[in-house]
Amino acid sequence: ERVAYEAMKDLPAKTLDGHRVHLMANMAVPEEADALVASGVEGIGLFRSEFLFMDRSTLPDEEEQFQAYKRVALAFGDKPVIIRTLDVGGDKHLPALALEKEENPFLGFRAIRISLARPELFQVQLRALLRASAFGRLLIMFPMISHLEQLRAAKSILEQAKSQLREEGVAFDENIAVGMMMEIPAACLQADAFAKEVQFFSIGTNDLVQYTLAVDRMNANIADLYSYYHPAVLRLISQVIEASHRAGIWTGLCGEMAGDPVATELLLGLGLDEFSGAASVMPKVKQRIRTTTIEQAKRTASHVLTLSTTEDVVAFLNNKAE
Ligand code: PEP
Ligand code: MG
Repeated sequence: ERVAYEAMKDLPAKTLDGHRVHLMANMAVPEEADALVASGVEGIGLFRSEFLFMDRSTLPDEEEQFQAYKRVALAFGDKPVIIRTLDVGGDKHLPALALEKEENPFLGFRAIRISLARPELFQVQLRALLRASAFGRLLIMFPMISHLEQLRAAKSILEQAKSQLREEGVAFDENIAVGMMMEIPAACLQADAFAKEVQFFSIGTNDLVQYTLAVDRMNANIADLYSYYHPAVLRLISQVIEASHRAGIWTGLCGEMAGDPVATELLLGLGLDEFSGAASVMPKVKQRIRTTTIEQAKRTASHVLTLSTTEDVVAFLNNKAE
């Protein structure tokens, strides 16, 4: 099997009838960059910037962040790297911000909510990202957006950072793409409105499942209820992809689901443009893509969307996968 994957490394993620998608990897720390470049992925679909902020008592300044993002931009060259702005809170703790303990951390002060409440910190990260964008192909992504106002506020702070850099004569990519995570049901239901104001979506099924089904992603007692194959989750995914295509933008998926080969044909058939998971599982996903057709995948997706229980979806897909 490994030999087959190795042989596929430089082949495109293309179906038998020529439908092309993009296979990217998720990255947690810049140290992984060289190995990921060598693994044959087309770029980074999700670089979680939290690594810079965790396990320390002070916040990284602009220079430190710039150096880290620049290193990644350089490592990937002309391959795209999607860097997500700070996504802490919920399950991700950050000692340096001394966040209050909350009753419901997953519904609380986290991610973009913190960035917008502390624009002076957000600015530092955005300036560092913009400066690094001069050294490669970076895209910026905002996490946990639920309200259009949040997206607009985040973009406006980004524009301020750009004007500052222009005034200072500092280089950055003027055409840097801006996207958002689709991980809150409200945003998915309003995908048409959001699609007019970003260049791409990335579906975060890890959180989307938890928020759609009201099932804590960390709670083992209810883990049997937590599944991205729930029909309601699949409908949201389908709606997001369709809304993005109507608006002429693309949609990726960077939750665990992207690396699950059982889900590959379904996601392909729903029209997903980019898959981003752990690099170790992406060869299996590529193999699935290269051995099916887009017509077949669309039939699978249409049928799955008629099913009304998670169990039926899982049974149907597992049966196909055998
Ligand atoms: C997600 O929610 O699916 C996601 C990719 O982000 P994280 O797992 O970092 O919350
Ligand atoms: Mg998330």
